[in-house]
Amino acid sequence: MAEQARIIDGKAAAAALRAQIGQEIAAIKAATGLVPGLHVVLVGEDPASRVYVNSKEKLAAEIGMNSAVHRLPAETSEAELLAKVAALNADDSVDGILVQLPLPPQIDADRVIDAIDPAKDVDGFHLVNVGRLASGRATLIPCTPLGSMLLLKQLLPSLAGLEAVVIGRSAIVGKPMAQLLLQADCTVTIAHSRTKDLPGVVRRADLVVAAVGRPLFVKGDWIKPGATVIDVGINRLPDGRLVGDVDFAEAVAVAGAITPVPGGVGPMTIACLLRNTLTAFHARRGDGARA
Ligand code: NDP
Repeated sequence: MAEQARIIDGKAAAAALRAQIGQEIAAIKAATGLVPGLHVVLVGEDPASRVYVNSKEKLAAEIGMNSAVHRLPAETSEAELLAKVAALNADDSVDGILVQLPLPPQIDADRVIDAIDPAKDVDGFHLVNVGRLASGRATLIPCTPLGSMLLLKQLLPSLAGLEAVVIGRSAIVGKPMAQLLLQADCTVTIAHSRTKDLPGVVRRADLVVAAVGRPLFVKGDWIKPGATVIDVGINRLPDGRLVGDVDFAEAVAVAGAITPVPGGVGPMTIACLLRNTLTAFHARRGDGARA
């Protein structure tokens, strides 16, 4: 019988990262009296967003980071949200601003993201931060790709020369993930809904990142034996179970290492949001070298 893949414990890695950030916050506070501050803006009542935001608030508090959630009603206008963002931009105690997506239909998300001070854009979605990442001068990197990279780097001493296939080309996950892998010297293919022979493309990969948004989409026989699989997907099945974009039961028998869902990339995403807030704190104070 084939050996089982190593299961990458994102929960433990995220806890370790949060503990490290917590220690750094305590040291900053002792030395300067300052505490990094994360502000999340939540518009409306989207249940999944509410869960994410509560979790961000709780984990920030646990590590001693200042955090606030600004809850605005679903009928908030774009002008009102832009005014809230402007107020947070102007507030020096605010290091990180995150506007939880999705936003209600009357609000143009791009316009709101463009309005966030790039130095406080802890999601890394502002055009300035997108450009910085593309040109290899990133400060604030989108949290999910950053978390995925941290897991990969813990697992593999070097990614240089590996064939990496990223399935999905969103601005939030697929594209920044591909850029990070390229910067780590992988040979990168970005696959998407128009890719021909996706199973054949994935079979070439030493490293697969699935960010598709389709439950159990990537099958075990698409995976090259021994490959590393990072499953970004979070999908809820009709029976209530949370599953990834990869058919874990099949892939675990073929891969060399694989992230589970839940307990893989998800916890790292939030830990990286906290890390980005600390990075923004240092960078805003001209202390970018430590970030
Ligand atoms: P998007 O819907 O923005 O992007 C999905 C991508 O998958 C698109 O590029 C799309 O291609 C591609 N795709 C869709 N169908 C196929 C197909 N049949 N074959 C190949 N490619 C396909 O999703 P996101 O990037 O925002 O998120 C992806 C997944 O990651 C979701 O499950 C989401 O819930 C999860 N997620 C998890 C996070 C975490 O913390 N773990 C954070 C963010 C997202 P095309 O561009 O051609 O349409």
